[in-house]
Amino acid sequence: MLIVMNHNASQIDIDTINKVITNMGYTAAPIPGSERTAIGVLGNKGYVDDCKILELPGVQRVIHVSKPYKLVSRDFHPEDTIVDVCGVRIGQGCRPVVVAGPCAVESEEQIMKTALFVAKAGADMLRGGAFKPRTGPHTFQGLREEGLKLLAKAGKESGLPTVTEVMSPDNVGLVAEYADLLQVGARNMQNFDLLRELGKIRKPVILKRGMSATIEEFLAAAEYILAEGNEQVILCERGIRTYETATRNTLDLAVAPLIKEMSHLPIMVDPSHATGKRSLVLPMTLAALVAGADGVLIEVHPEPEKALSDGPQSLTFQGFEHLMSEYRRLLPFLGFSS
Ligand code: PEP
Ligand code: MN
Repeated sequence: MLIVMNHNASQIDIDTINKVITNMGYTAAPIPGSERTAIGVLGNKGYVDDCKILELPGVQRVIHVSKPYKLVSRDFHPEDTIVDVCGVRIGQGCRPVVVAGPCAVESEEQIMKTALFVAKAGADMLRGGAFKPRTGPHTFQGLREEGLKLLAKAGKESGLPTVTEVMSPDNVGLVAEYADLLQVGARNMQNFDLLRELGKIRKPVILKRGMSATIEEFLAAAEYILAEGNEQVILCERGIRTYETATRNTLDLAVAPLIKEMSHLPIMVDPSHATGKRSLVLPMTLAALVAGADGVLIEVHPEPEKALSDGPQSLTFQGFEHLMSEYRRLLPFLGFSS
């Protein structure tokens, strides 16, 4: 960290800063210049909280050199992390994975039918929400524990590992009992108690980007999980909110290659929530894979017109089959056999 002083800062101001930095357990290294003095802070192992320093007299600004996401960044962990979900490997160098299933588990018949179909079509994992983070309270909120049981049963029958959302820290234990990969939804990206709880379990986590989150905030959220000891984290871009209303969200695809530069964690893309529109799911899936995504999350429903949530963006079985054949056609271009 570098503290830049005002040009009229006094020697007393500079001495005070030096004292505060020393009291924080760091070393102050003043760099006198012709116009102003800058003070380097040395000896910190990570991000330094600057609120005490910003208030001191004579301080103009503080420049952070260390990132607030040290464990997630490539600086101290240059090699790629591969996340293993019951033998399905996700990350750099692995064949990109396809996670498919309905937005929400609605009934045994619906999830079972979908699971068997997507498994046969070549999906790697089964998704289905049991705890649904809906915008309003008068809509379908999910089958909760019953939904978890049905999803686990469908996963077993189809041979697919399962992924489902966990919304509150209190439910982490329950959801971890049933699911193989735990999802943090966009609305909970900064639910820090939830993130901390997920850091304590020994199951992989998929963290979705908040709809208004910057990349720095996204990576700092993942840092909460790693800081508690769980390194099995997948990031997921699912579109952000912009002025555009023609699509449900704006898919920020540059994030896939950008995250790969900044972090060792795998990055997946969710073209269903990113676009909100069935017809856009296939082209944006292919675009995401070409951009280097380690996998995609696709909503599929046996009868999308009857879905209790996200029908307009859900693929039909036929649509999913077509997506899988296009995916297989792309694989050789990405360096994988189809
Ligand atoms: C979901 O995956 O069903 C979901 C609610 O996604 P998001 O949190 O990205 O909106
Ligand atoms: Mn959904």
